[in-house]
Amino acid sequence: MNARSLAVRCQNVIKIYHTGDQKVTALNGVNLDIAMGELMMLVGPSGCGKTTLISVIAGILDQDSGYCEVFGEDFLNMSNHHKLNFRARNIGFVFQAFNLLSALSAAENVSIPLIINGMQRSNAERKAITVLEQVGLGARVNALPSELSGGQQQRVAIARAMVHSPRLIVCDEPTSSLDHETGHAVMTLLKGIALHKDRALVIVTHDARIFDFADRIAKMDDGRIVEIKGVGVQASPASTSKSYTPVAAKP
Ligand code: ADP
Ligand code: MG
Repeated sequence: MNARSLAVRCQNVIKIYHTGDQKVTALNGVNLDIAMGELMMLVGPSGCGKTTLISVIAGILDQDSGYCEVFGEDFLNMSNHHKLNFRARNIGFVFQAFNLLSALSAAENVSIPLIINGMQRSNAERKAITVLEQVGLGARVNALPSELSGGQQQRVAIARAMVHSPRLIVCDEPTSSLDHETGHAVMTLLKGIALHKDRALVIVTHDARIFDFADRIAKMDDGRIVEIKGVGVQASPASTSKSYTPVAAKP
């Protein structure tokens, strides 16, 4: 893989948490390359560093040392302003706890990334509704998070992560609250995004039912990648998924 075809490159990434006198080495020298067009799954026992790693990759958390590059850019070298802009435009993140804003409806939550990127509110809500329809929530667009089931909230979080057509989507256990059929439908949608040659997805999961959607599966243990399975993405022509229509990216 040459550097230009890489969506993500992590080299010897180290992250240590300090709480009081205690030190926890959450990432202990992670090396991982993710290609453009690739859907990479990340598996491993609880506490092995998965959430920490995807937080570093998404620019939510700074590593202590080592190198992490996303689409050729290194968050540590960005000004705060550039970092916020870069993240808003290029990255969608599905948090394990969903992190929806409780006072906003499903459609309003999903429109946030579009509004941050400068889209007019009414257009943003219209676009948000089409993505909520894609995740099967067309009938609940005006519901508040507290009025939705866990699985429905999870799908709102997924819609919010993909609504602005980010080049990198990072998901922490995106199917944990979904039944088999809904999980499969959501993964089909996410997989469709990875078919765009300039995009990539990183999905943390324990859910063996969705492993088949991965191009490669990286196994973590104790702060390191210990094994990578799968052949990786094959060169394929740029294609557009039928079920996912990206909005025009704002320059
Ligand atoms: P995983 O997602 O694989 O369960 P995490 O990345 O959440 O693992 O955590 C890796 C290690 O870092 C664990 O030992 C966890 O307890 C610790 N850890 C995670 N977040 C923090 C934090 N904010 N402060 C201190 N320790 C943390
Ligand atoms: Mg985690």
